[in-house]
Amino acid sequence: MNSKRIGVLGGGQLGRMLVEAASRLNISITILDIPVDSPAKQIQATSRHIHGDFKDPLKIQELAQNVDILTIEIEHVNVETLETLFSEKKIEIHPHPFTIRIIQDKFLQKTHLSQNEIPVVDFIDISDRDSINIAVKKFGYPLMLKSKTLAYDGRGNHIIKSEDDITKALETLGNFQNPLYAERWSPFVKELAVMVVRSVDGVMKSYPVVETVHKENICHLVIVPAQHDNIILGRAKEIAEKAVLTFKGCGVFGVEMFLMKDGQIYVNEIAPRPHNSGHYTIEACQTSQYENHIRSILNMPIGSTSLKVPAAAMINVLGKSDNLQETLSPCVEALTTSGATIHLYGKRECRKGRKMGHITIVADSISQLYERINPILKMIDENDS
Ligand code: ATP
Ligand code: MG
Ligand code: MG
Repeated sequence: MNSKRIGVLGGGQLGRMLVEAASRLNISITILDIPVDSPAKQIQATSRHIHGDFKDPLKIQELAQNVDILTIEIEHVNVETLETLFSEKKIEIHPHPFTIRIIQDKFLQKTHLSQNEIPVVDFIDISDRDSINIAVKKFGYPLMLKSKTLAYDGRGNHIIKSEDDITKALETLGNFQNPLYAERWSPFVKELAVMVVRSVDGVMKSYPVVETVHKENICHLVIVPAQHDNIILGRAKEIAEKAVLTFKGCGVFGVEMFLMKDGQIYVNEIAPRPHNSGHYTIEACQTSQYENHIRSILNMPIGSTSLKVPAAAMINVLGKSDNLQETLSPCVEALTTSGATIHLYGKRECRKGRKMGHITIVADSISQLYERINPILKMIDENDS
């Protein structure tokens, strides 16, 4: 289909699903990540994969020498090396390194979005303990303290509910070893997300607006289509597309948003890559986010982003403990659920809160969807308690 070889920085589950989509199109992917048996490497047997750190300039250069296009499945990569390769015109890189640079620093990302008139919750730089007091004066309690960089699955976030929490929050987030900022607490009624795909020549298509449910800052459940009035959903799509337009480069982007009681929508954060809230597109849409990411960076026509089923859900299978059997009980339940597809990521070590897999469930209606997912959700709740 396309003779250009793709190199991916990162070999986790998103890389694995990119490899799955690419394999169907006979497109070659080379993964750069440390583990020899990372989830993405496991499913494409080749001696080309590189075993090294996606933060290591030499390893990134080695990958670049062996492929025609670089992309990412995680934004926490060595962006300086990508910028150098890009400025020396050594290789095509999608998304644009400038986009990765802005997005990998959440404070820079929020500054960029607000400068481009994209609605975001109020935020403030935190450089020392005194600046936390300034944030408290401005935003009141609770407030959200966040790491600017290297954050994922809520691991860089800490809620401060009162003065008593400040020391613990700072300790958890590394006592200023890592740069921090604070956000106004946002008492949303729902979290929404939209995957947007943009081609080299600027064609942009959006997937349907989904509802995401987080537990302890980690995505737990995605429902599509989001159950809300069409005016709100239309606005969410518009804001997501407008936000993506402020970034250079092509590929898919995941836009996470907060919907407030009064209908106001804020962008929480953007991922310049396939996203957890778009896993459902594999079974529920005409073309998955993974295939569209590949098509887009290879300058091939982007496939339809429409749903091909009336309703779908995605349930993350998160590690309960280090016991894989206990963690996989929702998958065992899903084996007897109509419309369910189980995805396991092949991670060797199971740890509490680690994303070990997901289950997508499709249905003919929202009510049928809930009938199908409720037993699986109940099993997860029972495991949690
Ligand atoms: P991801 O795995 O999506 O990259 P992350 O570590 O970057 O997660 P965020 O997306 O910043 O973390 O936050 C995780 C979750 O925490 C959000 O989806 C939301 O549920 C909650 N959250 C984040 N910021 C706020 C806020 N300002 N007010 C209220 N809740 C928030
Ligand atoms: Mg994030
Ligand atoms: Mg997030």
